[in-house]
Amino acid sequence: MKTTQPRLQDALGRPLQDLRISVTDRCNFRCTYCMPREIFGPDHAFLPRPALLTFEEITRVARLFASLGVHKIRLTGGEPLLRKQVEALVAQLSSISGTDLTLTTNGAILAKKAQALRDAGLKRITVSLDALDDATFKRMNDADFTVKQVLEGIEAAQLAGLQPIKVNAVIQRGVNEHAIVDLARHFRGSGIILRFIEFMDVGATNGWRLDDVVSATEIQQRIAAHWPVEPLEPTAPGEVAERYRYCDGTGEIGIIASVTRPFCRDCSRIRLSTDGSLFTCLFASHGFDLKTPLRAGADDATLLQSISSLWQHRTDRYSEIRSEATQGRRKIEMSYIGG
Ligand code: SAM
Ligand code: SF4
Ligand code: SF4
Repeated sequence: MKTTQPRLQDALGRPLQDLRISVTDRCNFRCTYCMPREIFGPDHAFLPRPALLTFEEITRVARLFASLGVHKIRLTGGEPLLRKQVEALVAQLSSISGTDLTLTTNGAILAKKAQALRDAGLKRITVSLDALDDATFKRMNDADFTVKQVLEGIEAAQLAGLQPIKVNAVIQRGVNEHAIVDLARHFRGSGIILRFIEFMDVGATNGWRLDDVVSATEIQQRIAAHWPVEPLEPTAPGEVAERYRYCDGTGEIGIIASVTRPFCRDCSRIRLSTDGSLFTCLFASHGFDLKTPLRAGADDATLLQSISSLWQHRTDRYSEIRSEATQGRRKIEMSYIGG
């Protein structure tokens, strides 16, 4: 008789469903809101190669998570396409049954990589793009990458059959508010799902201020002023984006209101850093070192026990309690922990 394992839940009753894996802490962009050049300059010490989990180690950990109920795996970073032979990792992970694998990229070298990723078993992809004009885009990526390079990456992903394609845009007051309507106009009717992200206070280096956040409500209103939209039901519990459809049937958009309408109560995500630590919240100040036992030869049962215990004790709800009290505390950078 088949026995079903009880679902692993944290201290607030939230199931463990979603694993984000950072495959590199390096990036070819220096987005001002993520890896500001003053901090991530030529002297910044990135992780040395031996510190990185190998593909075999990552795959082993991912299998353990799948056995605990994880059914969504996202590769991220840093810029995941900079990890050498990342498609070989995609091939290993896509063989884990019952999991949906995806990847978030800045798109700069996607044109070269899209077909190899598809061939390795990747089905869908998310590409970040914060503006459609080079002046704004270059000011934000601070590394001279053009909009055209990213659009070519998106086109290559479409041609390779990656589906659906989502495009993420972080909106910052006074920086790229005009991109809201530009991007909506561009991607309407293309089949690509555009998602706006409220600027978040991740890490400790991006100089975040609440005044720089353009709220989800304002983003929705700015779009609705051009093209009426109506809300859609969430497709799954724990979905981070609030979804809207254009009333004229030209597709949908999503808005991720992490600051103004936090969704901690449904947060089912855990993050595996490039060097093998687990973080139960994007805003965590400490990780749980999984690499040491992994490399010391721990068996699956021991690792499963550690992961289960970590999740069962989890009480994180940073975005819901974001306040003066949480402002000064140490936070890990998103490029290391995985966006
Ligand atoms: N390098 C890849 C990319 O940019 O798509 C993957 C990693 S990046 C950390 C993942 C996502 O986090 C991107 O869509 C990025 O725009 C978003 N992000 C980074 N810093 C952010 C911030 N301060 N607020 C909101 N979103 C942020
Ligand atoms: Fe790199 Fe992505 Fe961070 Fe931009 S958001 S600096 S592309 S990791
Ligand atoms: Fe999840 Fe932490 Fe973000 Fe809340 S703040 S949604 S607990 S990652």
